[in-house]
Amino acid sequence: MTKSASCLWVTCPIIIGAGPSGLATAACLKQKGIPSLILERANCIASLWKLKTYDRLHLHLPKHFCELPLLGFPSHFPTYPTKNQFLDYLESYKNHFGLEPVFNKVVVSAEFDHRHGAWRVMTSGPKQEHIEYVSQWLIVATGENADQVVPFIQGLSDFGGPVIHSSSYRNGRLYEGKEVLVVGCGNSGMEVALDLANFNARTSLVVRDSVHVLPREMLGISTFGLLVQMLKWFPIRFVDWFVLLMSRLVLGDTEKFGFRRPKLGPLELKSISGKTPVLDVGTVAKIKSLSWNRTNNVPRAEFVNGRNERFDAIILATGFKSNVPQWLKGAELFSEKDGMPKQAFPNGWKGEDGLYAVGFTRRGLLGAAFHAKKVAEDIELRWRADATKLLDFTTALSL
Ligand SMILES: Cc1cc2nc3c(=O)[nH]c(=O)nc-3n(C[C@H](O)[C@H](O)[C@H](O)COP(=O)(O)OP(=O)(O)OC[C@H]3O[C@@H](n4cnc5c(N)ncnc54)[C@H](O)[C@@H]3O)c2cc1C
Repeated sequence: MTKSASCLWVTCPIIIGAGPSGLATAACLKQKGIPSLILERANCIASLWKLKTYDRLHLHLPKHFCELPLLGFPSHFPTYPTKNQFLDYLESYKNHFGLEPVFNKVVVSAEFDHRHGAWRVMTSGPKQEHIEYVSQWLIVATGENADQVVPFIQGLSDFGGPVIHSSSYRNGRLYEGKEVLVVGCGNSGMEVALDLANFNARTSLVVRDSVHVLPREMLGISTFGLLVQMLKWFPIRFVDWFVLLMSRLVLGDTEKFGFRRPKLGPLELKSISGKTPVLDVGTVAKIKSLSWNRTNNVPRAEFVNGRNERFDAIILATGFKSNVPQWLKGAELFSEKDGMPKQAFPNGWKGEDGLYAVGFTRRGLLGAAFHAKKVAEDIELRWRADATKLLDFTTALSL
């Protein structure tokens, strides 16, 4: 504890992060009569969605795969709600369960104090004031996407034009008529490239690695939903074969546009490496329909394959990472390397000494909802046992 820090003993679980995972866990606890304290570094809930995503974003998956526990989406929402509809849903979710996160509290360290049997969570506020919160339970819900990943690219600092991460990209208005390079072709990179092209930017997309691009829907059915259903009946390799065949029928041969497919099928690859396939929302059709123009007198990008191109701006759609190793000390649950739980889904939600993780499954909101319920059930057991002990103690005192 620093000299200027005040210390607060909290009798309920502490949740770090007021994103969908933190809110879902707090709601599940609340339903069991257990309060919680949510500490959030931003000044709003769901800061990733509100502050770090582009305008045209919709949920990538159909809404029924993205619902948080205990309260569904309004029935009038479309199958793929917009970012603002999703934010409205989260706001009403928070209000429905009476959740009141404490904003502008950046957790700078958390460590289990073996002498007192409790977690000491140090926060820093906007004026650098420190408050230490102490509790028996600590739930980490800071997300897989807490910090942006900016790779080292030789010469990037000498590039004359703007270079931004996709988390700062809102729309392509600023880039109309410009040559723009998008680095990275995950879901964000593909959609940012489409958005830029729709704003008449001349867009190039760098594809470093092999990638599975699948249509978001096949024959009017969500590809994700189809995969979930098929996996109940067929082995993973058959489902992979089928989905690749259907993708070829819907999108054509995506290798022609530079999207080399990995050797393993999309599901097998996901289960082994956690790598998520890209769900195409129209980028492939756009690429097919585009004809390219080239301009000169703009900064240049040099590719490792020796190609040289000139660009006005670069957008790094190079992803995000967990920030847990920066502040969580001495906890076995998380890997120091990538800030993810060491154990793969469905495990990886419970550690030692009242430590939990929600939202680190690489399975989106569905995985977060699953773990939020498990954490609440687990805490309830100890909460009830502690309440019984306290009742026995006070009864004994009154005799
Ligand atoms: C562009 C995009 C689209 C996605 N679309 C879908 C989709 O359609 N369907 C789906 O299922 N999943 C989707 N996902 C994946 C995932 O479901 C979302 O990222 C979701 O927001 C995860 O929720 P979360 O609460 O775990 O993490 P986050 O939403 O990242 O929330 C974590 C919160 O913790 C706070 N925090 C972080 N560090 C600290 C700290 N040290 N101290 C205090 N607070 C801290 C952050 O400010 C943030 O508010 C998408 C992800 C992205 C990036």
